[in-house]
Amino acid sequence: MEFFSTRGGPRVALADAVLKGLAPDGGLYVPLTFPSLDPDDFDPAADLATIGEQLIRPFFADDVLATDLLAICREALNFPVPLLQTRDPRLSILELFHGPTAAFKDVGARFLAACLTRLTGARRPTVMVATSGDTGSAVAAACAERAGLRVVILYPEGGVSARQEHQLTCWGDNVLSLRVRGAFDDCQRLVKAAFLDEELAEACPLTSANSISVARLLPQMSYYAAASLSWKAQHGKNANFIVPTGNLGNALAGIWARRCGMPIGQIVLATNANTVIPRFLGSGQWQPEDTVATLASAMDVGNPSNMERLRHLHPDHSDLSQQVTAYAFEDDAIAETVRDAHASLGLAVCPHTATALAAYREVDSSQAWTALATAHAAKFEGTVEPLIGETVEVPPALAALLERPTNRTDIEPTHEALKARLLEWS
Ligand SMILES: *Cc1c(COP(=O)(O)O)cnc(C)c1O
Repeated sequence: MEFFSTRGGPRVALADAVLKGLAPDGGLYVPLTFPSLDPDDFDPAADLATIGEQLIRPFFADDVLATDLLAICREALNFPVPLLQTRDPRLSILELFHGPTAAFKDVGARFLAACLTRLTGARRPTVMVATSGDTGSAVAAACAERAGLRVVILYPEGGVSARQEHQLTCWGDNVLSLRVRGAFDDCQRLVKAAFLDEELAEACPLTSANSISVARLLPQMSYYAAASLSWKAQHGKNANFIVPTGNLGNALAGIWARRCGMPIGQIVLATNANTVIPRFLGSGQWQPEDTVATLASAMDVGNPSNMERLRHLHPDHSDLSQQVTAYAFEDDAIAETVRDAHASLGLAVCPHTATALAAYREVDSSQAWTALATAHAAKFEGTVEPLIGETVEVPPALAALLERPTNRTDIEPTHEALKARLLEWS
């Protein structure tokens, strides 16, 4: 299938959209059409890779990667994504954090890396990624195991947890970890500027691994499909999801999966004190803001870039506001929810997952809901442990990464500083 830019730019093959990341006109790639799939054609008991392959196949049709899709799905979607019933009969949790870096970003990062290794041109591009914490480590982990891929990570100074920073900086020579004196939005701005720099494109061809990458969005649809198909098979109803939201990549994948025909009912977004999305849904005015630092730091995004895709899909505001609703929570509500989830449900949840559980109290209580758990609580132990008064056990994969030595470079938040460091490295 072909893809084109949200700003109207020319059509490109999927593989080109994957390699380019951002469209040349500054827009984001979106598929030409969405397939209409019949849920009855899926086996709800199949594994994540099988369901993912079936769902993603139409998007890969006629592409150079088409024949590899099943192998890509098997390599990337190879860890469990369990749907757990909590003590509250109306609340289930979809645990997305059983991959190598203990956050849902592993799904997209592993799929992207599996695609990139197969797109072997004469000059394989360097993967560049701005991260508020979890993306960078997921991409580094996914690429580190693949010979020939190089990765540049930009992360905000003071914007990530100690364990996240360790995971961002514990890699070998093919990963350049840059700590930027600024916020996540500065990192994102630097990545965008780097992509539009022609001299850099010549010296050091770049590709994106941010949630603007279609190779991250498409596989994220898989867990919505698998969970909703299994829910429908058990309960005979569509599944309603609550999604902790920052840059809107996760939630957009759910909206795309629903658009393809998966049995998904409502999609509710939960944000932290960065309220640009809920305010936009309320007023119709798109007013990006400076980022506010919160306990749910991987969602500290003042200008969520994937909103451009959602607005492109639903240009009419009243139509768009039918598609999703959103709730925002200040840090005190997040902290209170972490404590309450532990006390009443017996769960240790990360601060991001806590926003979804806080939103659960606001939504229609006559329906059942599935909250997405986007990271393991052990990644944010500095926040979670004092609130629940217990140590959170570190999963083995994360423990292994925390043993490794680290290495990073500090840079100013300017295009010149980034460019100089990149040219020196490449
Ligand atoms: C990235 C991230 C989010 C936000 O996801 P978006 O796709 O940016 O909306 C939420 N929780 C965790 C743990 C994350 O790493």
